[in-house]
Amino acid sequence: MLKIFNSLNNQEEVFLSNNKKINLYVCGITAYDHCHIGHGRTFIFFDVVVRYLKFIGYKVNYIRNITDIDDKIINKSLKEKINYKKIVEKTIHSMNQDFKLLNMLKPDKEPLVTHHINEIICMINSLLKKNFAYISKNGDVNFSINRCEHYGNLSNQILSKIKSFKKNNRVLYKNNELDFVLWKKSKLNEPFWLSPWGKGRPGWHIECSAISSIYLKKNCDIHGGGIDLLFPHHENEKAQSDCFYGKKYVNYWMHVGSVLINNQKMSKSLNNTIRLNTLLQKYDPEIIRFYILSQHYRKPLNYVESKLNQATSAMYRLYTVLSDINFYETLNVCNKDLQNNDYTLFKKIMDSDFNTPHVLSMMFKIVKQINILKSTNKFKVYQLALKLKTIGNILGILFYNPHIFLKKKYLYLPISIQKIELLITIRQHARLYKKWKKADVIRKKLKFLGINLKDNNNCTSWYYL
Ligand SMILES: [Zn+2]
Repeated sequence: MLKIFNSLNNQEEVFLSNNKKINLYVCGITAYDHCHIGHGRTFIFFDVVVRYLKFIGYKVNYIRNITDIDDKIINKSLKEKINYKKIVEKTIHSMNQDFKLLNMLKPDKEPLVTHHINEIICMINSLLKKNFAYISKNGDVNFSINRCEHYGNLSNQILSKIKSFKKNNRVLYKNNELDFVLWKKSKLNEPFWLSPWGKGRPGWHIECSAISSIYLKKNCDIHGGGIDLLFPHHENEKAQSDCFYGKKYVNYWMHVGSVLINNQKMSKSLNNTIRLNTLLQKYDPEIIRFYILSQHYRKPLNYVESKLNQATSAMYRLYTVLSDINFYETLNVCNKDLQNNDYTLFKKIMDSDFNTPHVLSMMFKIVKQINILKSTNKFKVYQLALKLKTIGNILGILFYNPHIFLKKKYLYLPISIQKIELLITIRQHARLYKKWKKADVIRKKLKFLGINLKDNNNCTSWYYL
């Protein structure tokens, strides 16, 4: 029985749905800059959620929006004197390239906000009619949080403590300083759409409420996003949708932990953002996926490059075992017994709030079993290999032919071949003069990077695993 940690009640809960088709909504990117590793983590995780839900028999209606109008986009457009549409177009192109390389399944729909302005206006109108919103003196339409009974319960906020949140001029025109904008009156030179309240554009939060109501209708089973969206974005989305429908709209809220860089928050001002396209130049996409899934999705992921090197070695171990047994030839053999695998343990682990690190360690237990049985029970070995591949595929890895992956070996070495050869020469020199400690330090340094040394008489060879 699948259990999901529901941010709404701050606890793990049994996942219940009335339908065999799950409505999943994940907040997508704001299209103003290249995607970074934080985006990669969130969307890779939900990609695994979709693959797993399908594996256990559900159909999934997966919606991920794209914010194509927003302050950040407008500011960049004014600063760089480029039409905002060009910025959006370029960013979406870059995102598509990254996500395709990372082998993410395409969402069923990927709606743009500006394609749904009419529906957004309708939703705001309805909130106004029901008195959940008001037109303020500066021309904006604001949501009134005092009218929303459970405002604050998703992010577990003590509202009095966050009163100082985002103080700016617009606060002057709000009944409660936590009220948020549904429709923003446009300033001179800003893109705008016509509405009953004059020229303007939608606020950030209303777009997700409107888009999910278009594509998921009256019920959203799971709503996900990065933990940074919990407040105010998801709290406000929840307020709008619940008030619009007069009932709880989302059943399970899921949040993916943030990515830290050397224990610091990733931010433009610290200049420590790691772009996906930079990472993809250095590491195979499956290695990046392995690395991201090696930490439980709810915990923060502290980015350390050496862990990517460990993930590289781990992926080589997985592919090496598959390449050893001519697994891909066997797949062509239509043998039902071969496919008759037991996935009980795998399901148990995944059902426990998608515990991917535990799944990865289970995969290495299978590798161990294969190695033990390799020379004695070929049939069992084939069966285990098929299981390994099936589980890997649900995590979005092990899609290559192992021989092709292993050939790429030196592309992803964490250190150049010249540097390895140089270190080996220095070590040989140290050994010649009996400087064992120095020789050992070099051996350990290389081993940390996944480079293993083999001494044979006076010759040292190396291999990467
Ligand atoms: Zn959203």
